[in-house]
Amino acid sequence: MKQVPARTRIVVGNWKMNPVAGGDAKKIVATLKKKLQRASVPVVVVPPAIHLEVVRSLVKKPFSLGVQDVHQAEKGAFTGSISAAMAYGYGARYAILGHSERRRAGETNDDVGEKVRVTLGQGMTPIICVGETERDHAGRFYSFVETEIREALRGVSRAQVANVIVAYEPVWAISTGDGRGQTATPEHAHEMKLFIQKVLVALYGRTIGLRVPVLYGGSVNPGNAEELMAHGDIDGFLVGGASLKPDEFTTIVRAVEAHK
Ligand code: PEP
Repeated sequence: MKQVPARTRIVVGNWKMNPVAGGDAKKIVATLKKKLQRASVPVVVVPPAIHLEVVRSLVKKPFSLGVQDVHQAEKGAFTGSISAAMAYGYGARYAILGHSERRRAGETNDDVGEKVRVTLGQGMTPIICVGETERDHAGRFYSFVETEIREALRGVSRAQVANVIVAYEPVWAISTGDGRGQTATPEHAHEMKLFIQKVLVALYGRTIGLRVPVLYGGSVNPGNAEELMAHGDIDGFLVGGASLKPDEFTTIVRAVEAHK
């Protein structure tokens, strides 16, 4: 039997539209550096793009920088958008794509697919967010997630997919910053992780498909991170609200390190 390939563990902090001031962004990164400079898993900090420049010089291994979106075009008349090349130029090596908060604003699977291709072309790692808005008893949410994955990866080669991360974020579990998101159980995360791997294996074969990290996101906090890692068998987390609180984020990173 072929050996199951080693999987990368990784933690990503999506700051969303926070904090207001660049100085506060610097403070968060500086505090994280003190706590996590010896972390044994990669940690991706994803501030609003406007803060990339102020935090950039602080970000060294094990930290990397990401952006929360890029436009699918290389340049042009797209008011308010930034391109993958611009983000790369300011140090971003990862891009969160297809986040539910952007899909809610009209982003389609086709848009996500184009963004994935442009991001890969720029030498960045796309973090493709997928997840159902709600669960139905007939299990149609599985085919919903499958379509999101297949359309995001259209035209992505076997060589390129080695540089892709998938984040399962059930929309019903994402907090709105007020801590009121429902938390998926480790079983929810585990079942969907296995399903996502099945889709990836169908697309790319076992050796390559099983190497794509599958993260979980949705109200991850210091109280549930350990259990999600232990029983969800996921490869790490995409963290929203708690990523702005260095103590909480540190505990979450420690939970991932403990399950390397
Ligand atoms: C997110 O929006 O990607 C997210 C996971 O948010 P939270 O952790 O706040 O639910």
